[in-house]
Amino acid sequence: MRYTPATMDVTQQTPLQRRLNNLGFAAMLLFCPLITWYVTIAIRYYDAVLVLPDRAFLGHVAPPSLTALCFYLGWLALQGAFAALLPGKLERGIELELPGREPHALEYKMNGLGAFVLTLLVAVGLVLSGVLPATFLYQQLDSLLTTANVVVLALCGYMFALGRTQATPQERTRNALEAYVIGAALNPRNGSFDWKFFCESRPGMILWVLLDFSFAAAQLARQGEISNSMWLVCAFQLLYVADYFVMEDAILTTWDIRHEPFGFMLCWGCLVWIPFTFSLQGLYLVDHPIQLPVPAAVALVLFNLAGYVIFRGANLQKHRFRKAPEQAIWGRAPEFIQTQRGTKLLVSGFWGVARHSNYLGDLMMGLAWCLTTGFAHVLPYFYIIYFLILLLHRERRDHGHCARKYGADWDTYTARVRWRILPGVY
Ligand code: NDP
Repeated sequence: MRYTPATMDVTQQTPLQRRLNNLGFAAMLLFCPLITWYVTIAIRYYDAVLVLPDRAFLGHVAPPSLTALCFYLGWLALQGAFAALLPGKLERGIELELPGREPHALEYKMNGLGAFVLTLLVAVGLVLSGVLPATFLYQQLDSLLTTANVVVLALCGYMFALGRTQATPQERTRNALEAYVIGAALNPRNGSFDWKFFCESRPGMILWVLLDFSFAAAQLARQGEISNSMWLVCAFQLLYVADYFVMEDAILTTWDIRHEPFGFMLCWGCLVWIPFTFSLQGLYLVDHPIQLPVPAAVALVLFNLAGYVIFRGANLQKHRFRKAPEQAIWGRAPEFIQTQRGTKLLVSGFWGVARHSNYLGDLMMGLAWCLTTGFAHVLPYFYIIYFLILLLHRERRDHGHCARKYGADWDTYTARVRWRILPGVY
């Protein structure tokens, strides 16, 4: 029995649904980039106050610069070269079931950790040798943001064109706007180079870490020292990104890789939204060098670590269970529901506590990052507000997907595991 995720099945939508969807896609295309400028400018030039953008505000939208363009194109090329050339273990993804295609699994080269470490070494080398100041990214931030937006929107155009040539007949039913925004195909590839897998992490997540470090350097330059809040936010986010690369193969069983087409939403989201909005706490701290009391700092470390253990533990349990279902979980043989479709739904460990404990852990970490910025302004909390909305929506989408896919078996699972994300609350 073939299963088609609802997001892909355009033919089942009514004309009104299609029109509303198109409106939503156009709004995303317009407003998402505007939001990145708004939050960056408000934090950098308006003391993180929620202001109404006037002429002066718009004057802070920098045009692309040659320096930023050279940096950003060089950056994409460097990461592309690392991804293509560095050695790495080949991993097979989960078998894809696309209408009109034979079930097949794609191969991915796991060399993200090498690329991450090498990039950090190159960055340190450039700073120590005096080629670039440590504050380079902070200084270039405004034009870099504009440049990244322009380059990535063009790259999304290429993904659209490439995706159209590799789309299934069903994917080709998407209109041009929809195909550009959500993606023309699931896994656009040039040879064995998988654009989605590459963009999910390399240029965006590594740039995020470098932006954090550059903000710490800027704080040092402007305030004469690095505050403990800045140390914490840099360390927390470095852990998050390093962990991603250490556990890189775990991405292969996620929704993004398996079910999300690759277009503006993921491509721009990973390349622009992630580095420039996830690093906002660091940007805020440049001019707000908050010294947290030691007990507060310790509490944040513990809270972040607890979130990490839940997030990583849950994701690993599912990942390992799908690969080797007999492996013990929390010291016991795993319990599961054998579905009619053949796959097993885990009900042990974190997956027996709530249906998305992994989201809970991720949210706890995000909250810890934002809490480093104190309570004076709401904009440094942008990440956790956005992320909460995203994950609540994503959980509902995933629930719908699983309900359609597993039918009565999913009802059995949800009856057994009642809580969606936070046991006792939601
Ligand atoms: P999950 O990794 O939670 O995967 C959900 C899928 O797992 C379901 O569609 C189903 O797929 C399978 N599944 C569900 N329940 C079970 C079960 N009990 N046993 C076995 N398999 C099950 O979803 P995501 O891809 O959304 O999230 C992965 C991680 O990425 C999360 O930690 C999330 O927080 C993080 N994330 C981070 C974002 C960010 O911006 N920082 C954005 C989005 C996600 P099937 O049965 O078809 O295999």
